[in-house]
Amino acid sequence: MQNELLSLSNQELTDLVKGLGHPGFRGRQVADAIFRQRKESLAGVSNLPLALKSQILEQGWSVGFPRIEQKFISRDGTVRYLIAFADGQSVETVWMPEGDFGEAGDGTEAGREELAQLASEEKPERAPGDPLKSPATAQNRKARSKANPAQKIRSRATICVSSQVGCAVNCQFCLTALLGVKRNLTAGEIVGQVLAVLRDHEVNLERERMNIVFMGMGEPLLNYENFVKAVRLLVEEVGFPQSRMTVSTSGIVPGIFDLGKEAIRPKLAISLNAPNDEIRERIMPITRKWNIEMLLDAARQFPLGPRELLTFEYVLLEGVNDAPQHAREVARRLAGIRSKVNLIAFNPGPGVSYTMPGQDRVLAFQNVLIGAGVPAFIRRPRGRDIYAACGQLKRTVS
Ligand code: SAH
Ligand code: SF4
Repeated sequence: MQNELLSLSNQELTDLVKGLGHPGFRGRQVADAIFRQRKESLAGVSNLPLALKSQILEQGWSVGFPRIEQKFISRDGTVRYLIAFADGQSVETVWMPEGDFGEAGDGTEAGREELAQLASEEKPERAPGDPLKSPATAQNRKARSKANPAQKIRSRATICVSSQVGCAVNCQFCLTALLGVKRNLTAGEIVGQVLAVLRDHEVNLERERMNIVFMGMGEPLLNYENFVKAVRLLVEEVGFPQSRMTVSTSGIVPGIFDLGKEAIRPKLAISLNAPNDEIRERIMPITRKWNIEMLLDAARQFPLGPRELLTFEYVLLEGVNDAPQHAREVARRLAGIRSKVNLIAFNPGPGVSYTMPGQDRVLAFQNVLIGAGVPAFIRRPRGRDIYAACGQLKRTVS
């Protein structure tokens, strides 16, 4: 855990090999092997001298990815992975094939440009009457690229990544909260989840559009240093564009200010989830520390790129925060903030006592927001049947 090569940047790898008496360029070769070629061990890396490989191992550095312990596949193609680390702790990582149209899994416009292409790509493949086709496995993707080699960009997916084992924030509607927080993940463990899943699906990042959302277990901004380091590694070493990553926070205000100052950062989503402090305190006790006004103040000051929008997530809990008047209140509060709202109907789970509102309530809420000039989208639930949807990540194994 402490000594993982996966936690090291190119520069740190370069310093490491130099410290062992080797030329600096060997650092780049090690980085290529682990981050780009997804090698599990240095043994098979033929361009590295034997002496360097054994020195690295003798110094106690580990190379391996986290282990995929279990894999649950949903009817909608979503895959929930139980991923275990060296100390036996585990988290969940979710693969959602094809963004959820207009949302790209995270509710941003990432992916809008490919919608037309995606539609033309997918349609001929889909057997009539078989909308719930089997997941886009490496195998059937390979078959497709054979069928039409002229197409450059293949199917896309969104990987939902965890940042902590459990979570300390204690939102009342979230299954992860029931675990409490066991520990932070290291940068290498965060990156390792992505690499393990990319390898499982044999993803070629140059030809396939992928998104990452930091919306799995944990509160990323309470594991700030490791989280931002992981983002930098994913951008600089693995080769993910930062515009295809989104981090979701429950509203850790100092973390939002810090994130705004980072040169490399994902897009920001804020879990608002309530129209006012009274309701928010009940469902998200963290509101007592940073109330909605403090949160929106940080949102207003967050430096956005030219075409960037903030996302506000809003989990609809029947009879709690889902009335039209709540939507009007939300619209009033968000006025003037360059943002959009992602509505998520509550995903139920054992130990959490809220109810999912009906589709009519969800649509009515959306309509009020849109009518008030706030762009609002309804997030398609992914992998509910295997407990992979938002807020359902609790390492459920049955
Ligand atoms: N800790 C971060 C990111 C992980 S949670 C955060 O809270 O933002 C990702 C999203 O799932 C959040 O927007 C959260 O509000 C939502 N969520 C949590 N539990 C949920 C549930 N039971 N049903 C639907 N969404 C849920
Ligand atoms: Fe933690 Fe996010 Fe769940 Fe709240 S919703 S308990 S912050 S994971």
